[in-house]
Amino acid sequence: DGPKSTAHPALWPAAKSQGLVDPATEAFVDGLLAKMTLEEKIGQMIQADTASIKAEDLKTYPLGSILAGGSSPPLGAPDRSPVGPWVDTVKAFRDAAAQRGGTNIPLMFGIDAVHGNNNLVGATLFPHNIALGAAHDPELIRKIGAATGQETAVSGFDWAFGPTLAVPRDDRWGRTYEGYSEDPAIVRQYAREMILGLQGAVSEGQALQKGHVAASAKHFLGDGGTTNGKDQGDTQVSEAELIRLHAQGYVPAINAGTMTIMASFNSWNGQKMHGNKSLLTDVLKGRMGFDGFIVGDWNGHGQVEGCTPTNCAQAANAGLDMYMAPDSWKGLYDNLLAQAKSGEVPMARIDDAVRRILRVKAKLGLFRADRPWEGREGVLGNADHRAIAREAVAKSLVLLKNNGGVLPIKASAKVLVAGSGADDIGQQSGGWTLSWQGTDNKNSDFPNAQSIYSGFKDAVEASGGSASLSVDGSFSDKPDVAVVVFGEQPYAEGVGDLKSLEYQQGDKTDLALLKKLKAQGVPVVAVFLSGRPLWVNPELNASDAFVAAWLPGSEGGGIADVLVGDAAGKPRRDFNGKLSFSWPKTAAQFSLNKGDKGYAPLFAYGYGLTYKAGRTVPKLSEVSGVTAIAANDSNYFVGGKTSAPFEFRLLPTTSVHIKPVDAGNVQEAGRQLTFAGGVPAAAEIAADKAFDLTFQTNAEIALQVNWRVDAAPSAKTTLGIGAGKLDVTPVLSGAKLGEWTSLK
Ligand code: BGC
Repeated sequence: DGPKSTAHPALWPAAKSQGLVDPATEAFVDGLLAKMTLEEKIGQMIQADTASIKAEDLKTYPLGSILAGGSSPPLGAPDRSPVGPWVDTVKAFRDAAAQRGGTNIPLMFGIDAVHGNNNLVGATLFPHNIALGAAHDPELIRKIGAATGQETAVSGFDWAFGPTLAVPRDDRWGRTYEGYSEDPAIVRQYAREMILGLQGAVSEGQALQKGHVAASAKHFLGDGGTTNGKDQGDTQVSEAELIRLHAQGYVPAINAGTMTIMASFNSWNGQKMHGNKSLLTDVLKGRMGFDGFIVGDWNGHGQVEGCTPTNCAQAANAGLDMYMAPDSWKGLYDNLLAQAKSGEVPMARIDDAVRRILRVKAKLGLFRADRPWEGREGVLGNADHRAIAREAVAKSLVLLKNNGGVLPIKASAKVLVAGSGADDIGQQSGGWTLSWQGTDNKNSDFPNAQSIYSGFKDAVEASGGSASLSVDGSFSDKPDVAVVVFGEQPYAEGVGDLKSLEYQQGDKTDLALLKKLKAQGVPVVAVFLSGRPLWVNPELNASDAFVAAWLPGSEGGGIADVLVGDAAGKPRRDFNGKLSFSWPKTAAQFSLNKGDKGYAPLFAYGYGLTYKAGRTVPKLSEVSGVTAIAANDSNYFVGGKTSAPFEFRLLPTTSVHIKPVDAGNVQEAGRQLTFAGGVPAAAEIAADKAFDLTFQTNAEIALQVNWRVDAAPSAKTTLGIGAGKLDVTPVLSGAKLGEWTSLK
């Protein structure tokens, strides 16, 4: 059986790289391999980072790839190119490499384009993957991939280090937001779409279409299976579990033709992935038929037992094809060359690695003379791409609470937009934005991006409303509603790991802001920006409505698109998002996943209210105008559509009788409705006892229930619709004491 970290390929799902291998390409690669020196071959296997190599170095060292790490070059007026400041840097490296002589293999330039080409000033920043998971829209993912591919290609890059196919199982992990879902089903579906979007179709005998780039499915394997949410940690699961959860996305990724796969930092049962031959070679290249190349993660080879960043024959021997050796490239090059000469890394292994790299370069079209997308104007951050991003923002919002129908906000309302995230594009974009951790975002320039506040301003001002910005929530003129935007500050790998899921441990400034506004009689809508579900019960309780907005990126206007209705308060568009991660009920529910034993989330996987079926109609105590009932009047019209059970609740404060009319009186477009559990007989409802009716319909309905009060109710008596899920417009009209009256 071998150690616990040895895989059994026969247990794994089979797959096959589509279109990557074809006779013409292989013949072309054969020709190159025959001409290349050993030095040139070794060079192909190494990737350096722009921060640690100069373009000049490529005249001497025949490296195969460069990674655009570090921050975006500064935005200075003179060198600000219409396609972003990276384009000149990339070109300088390419030109230097081309001057080297020998077998002229083009450079392959990669970048962490993980939510759009996020290292570029002016790029469209799409919502992070956790948000896209909530959107449940594979077609949208393909469009995002295509737009990202174009914005990556336009600055001269060939390769995006994504999509992340992690299945995060412990939300303390600081990379949770890079994953689409805790459920491999979504990851499986999205993997294919994102890769087809980035790369386009990969077909035999053809290079990729222009304006597309190579994808890198990452991180193989088990990155999301962290123990205690610790980044780069040990994934301690059985082989069956590794396959069932973590490997699922790689099958469609390979089938869709992903050109590269990135090895993961994590270990599997104690063994680092960069050194796991059974997984990299036997499973991935063997059983799963992957014909592209495996790139390492940032000095990840250096973590293999017995290795350092500059010396690791083990990784190549395990199946790694290209070392990501950002700052260690020079030492690694010398050592790998020596190891090839001594046979420590067999020549066959080197030829296989280089063949895979050249195959990808050929299929990418790098040997073509023209690079028509490089420098093309009107691509980076264009209106079409921003529209896709805005759509993604709107679709990913998850409505967790909407009491008293505070949402949608009337377009004619006076809106106060408050909170630290109200007018902060850096915060709404999160990590992997302009810099690695995203920590410098606050002072960054985001040309043409839109803050959440600005989106509200546009939406209400067009209809006679107004929006004012006040981060600390102060106002001189009382607003109709406050939208408080708050949440996590940007973070990425390592730094983002948490010990507990409590939001705002210790510091409760956001909670205080919510409470202060409530105390002043202002209805409060919370817009929560976060890279994961967190324990926010105090904030939830202090808000009338609560929206999980994740890390929406540059198009903050997508939030007002859903939260602001028309001038009459009717929704302009509905909520669509459903949780792709379970939401914790306590701060200690670290590893809370759909299907767990004793699963007890606050909001289950798949939860998400909508206006249509999920609009929370007023709680009884919140029905406005109920005092009219105390005058023995009651007449409610209940109308709308519901595909989820609709609960109709009476909660009188004095005893009343009710007699639900028979099913015939409940009209659903002329059809009879049945009450779940049958139509109850007339009942007496004691004071303070709730009486519930549940029914379900997909059509517009008018519900009629007869009721009567035998005693004049106190002024406090309320009658209405409980934790219901329909639109309700209370209409009060005459009814007499002791008479059966319709509640319809
Ligand atoms: C991350 C990768 C990323 C790479 C290059 C690593 O630290 O784990 O996801 O692609 O850096 O920036």
